[in-house]
Amino acid sequence: MITSLRMIHWNLSGGIVHRGLLLPFIDALEVPNVALSVHDGFSGLSWSAGRERGSTIVPDTLDNVLEQYRQRDVGFNLLFSNHLLGPDDLANAYGNRLLEKLHDERNGVVVCDGVLADYVRERYPKYQLIRSVINAYLDEVIYRPSDAIVRYFQEKVQTYDRVVVPSELNLRFDVLDQLDKSKLEFLVNNNCFWHCPFAIKHYTQIANGFKKPAGGSPTRICLAQAATSGPERDRTLDHLRKHDALLDETGKPIKQIKFGQRITFKKSWMKPAEVELMQREGCLHFKLQGRDCAASAFEEALRLFVVEYT
Ligand SMILES: [Zn+2]
Repeated sequence: MITSLRMIHWNLSGGIVHRGLLLPFIDALEVPNVALSVHDGFSGLSWSAGRERGSTIVPDTLDNVLEQYRQRDVGFNLLFSNHLLGPDDLANAYGNRLLEKLHDERNGVVVCDGVLADYVRERYPKYQLIRSVINAYLDEVIYRPSDAIVRYFQEKVQTYDRVVVPSELNLRFDVLDQLDKSKLEFLVNNNCFWHCPFAIKHYTQIANGFKKPAGGSPTRICLAQAATSGPERDRTLDHLRKHDALLDETGKPIKQIKFGQRITFKKSWMKPAEVELMQREGCLHFKLQGRDCAASAFEEALRLFVVEYT
């Protein structure tokens, strides 16, 4: 265990769906220098988004769960990152009730740029406002030159308390060293493959799903692998190869695909040692996803990243 490192903050997924796992985990955690917050989205609420299902919870139980986190001084971040919202959506009674209920400095709201971000800024100033990674993927910022990426995030941190950075930039110290790292949040276990060409499609389908009365969308898993057996095969492989995201059997990036060659896609999961390196270089906020995982799989990720590593 490394105890000499400075404070690290983990924003953990599934504050509601994994509460049965997270609350005892938080109580048992004896690791120093760790601050925790949790986040979750809500089924049936058009403001929800992200890569995973929203949670369903009755109001009384929700009050109890929120109180449990409050007593442990663990912040709750509302996942309201639907990027397809318009002015009419702001009247949503369920969303407003949640904003009223959680409004204090310990808690946050994850949003995309636009009407809901402005609304929260103006009416609920106590919240920590967190800019969703969805925005950065929609803007395809990872494909810009380094100095343009730096300018992009320099601008965004002006109007948010924290800005979530796409996984592809996690170890890009050429970019990160020029930014205020204490205002950035890094996703360590993105479900999409590295440089997935379908990121915008994933987020848009999911955001559309949450805007329908039934809520949700079937698109939860990365589409990149399936695309290699369809009409978009050549374009998908070419894109991934260009970004060193196709690996040979030894794990090295493939420069040119040979006929019949065995190919694996590079995953976006970081190694705990890489998180440690980022922390040493001044990165502070890390996010662990896993709302859709079985509790046992999420617990494994918690142990790997939050306990084993820290
Ligand atoms: Zn994907």
